[in-house]
Amino acid sequence: MTIREHVPLAPLTTMQVGGPARYLVEAASEDEVRQAVDFAHAKAVPLFVLGGGSNLLVADSGWPGLVLKVAIGGITQQDEDGAVLFDAGAGVDWDQFVARAVASDCAGVECLSGIPGSVGGTPMQNVGAYGQEVSDTVESVRALDLKANRVVVLPEEACGFHYRTSIFNTAERGRYIILRVTYRLTQDGTPSLKYADLQKHFAASGSPPSLAQVRAAVRQIRQSKGMLIVPGDADSRSAGSFFKNPVLSEVQFHDLASRAELKGLKIPSYPALDAQRKVSAAWLVEHSGFAKGFTLGVAGISRKHALALINTGSASAADIVRLKETIQRGVEQAWGILLEPEPVFVGF
Ligand SMILES: Cc1cc2nc3c(=O)[nH]c(=O)nc-3n(C[C@H](O)[C@H](O)[C@H](O)COP(=O)(O)OP(=O)(O)OC[C@H]3O[C@@H](n4cnc5c(N)ncnc54)[C@H](O)[C@@H]3O)c2cc1C
Repeated sequence: MTIREHVPLAPLTTMQVGGPARYLVEAASEDEVRQAVDFAHAKAVPLFVLGGGSNLLVADSGWPGLVLKVAIGGITQQDEDGAVLFDAGAGVDWDQFVARAVASDCAGVECLSGIPGSVGGTPMQNVGAYGQEVSDTVESVRALDLKANRVVVLPEEACGFHYRTSIFNTAERGRYIILRVTYRLTQDGTPSLKYADLQKHFAASGSPPSLAQVRAAVRQIRQSKGMLIVPGDADSRSAGSFFKNPVLSEVQFHDLASRAELKGLKIPSYPALDAQRKVSAAWLVEHSGFAKGFTLGVAGISRKHALALINTGSASAADIVRLKETIQRGVEQAWGILLEPEPVFVGF
């Protein structure tokens, strides 16, 4: 295991922004993860766990301690009562995992095709898209518990999954290094077609689509929105959606909806848990004066998706933060809602 020094982090992130790591190590086994943790303790430096770097904004000053890139690989599958348990190393590329599940005719993650990042990154914010979330299929998470200094297996119920949250990015942030994730998928299951864009895509076809067709459609729709990493496509030089969809109480929602109505507008919304409504952050951004393609210096909004803040070429983290704050201020002034960022801010 080689520990490198002063390693630029920008190339390890999809936004390609940010300064260097004081130390960086790639850990390909549980043992190496432990050794890396010991190194950080011995040097008395802070530890940051890196997956695929697709949900991060790294500060221009970089990270003052050790960046531990989890590179644990391997996928195994085992049949159990009509289901198939897939166990994948945290360092496995997420989309390759989805490809493997779909190729094995197993349903449950097909709508999550094309999401960048690692398997280990998926439980963090309960990754979701097109009507599926990983919480629907996560069976358990194997992790190094830094508080108890031992490896634990957390069943799905212990992960506290909600919309873009889990214990890993809220109450227990920084406590666990995810080593492996087990997903319970359905053998020969039918693909999920909950999302309007997907239903529209298959409306004309006479027979129900296969898992592989849904996977291909999701990737195609994603690409049209700049939400698939395509080398050379500046619109995908992002961290995906930069803002979460606000979840409002019914009272807050009605207040917002009536203000929109006064302007002759209808705000898109979806039911959420416990008498709440999730409203479209993209709509709020676009109806606060920030159109797709908006730029502020070398930072901008994707030309294909109002929620993706992009590095148009040579943006610094400070440029992205300035754009983020400008949008937040604009949306708050127009609608009284403070948009909450989705990516993790590293080294700020
Ligand atoms: C173009 C694009 C489209 C996207 N679309 C979606 C989408 O549709 N839905 C969605 O939910 N997200 C989406 N994202 C965001 C992102 O891809 C996911 O959140 C992804 O799961 C992040 O995984 P990662 O491995 O890249 O994590 P990183 O970005 O490396 O890290 C994110 C957080 O997870 C932690 N982490 C990562 N791995 C581990 C581990 N093994 N143990 C402990 N902590 C860890 C890091 O410390 C950090 O706090 C998109 C991003 C991009 C760039």
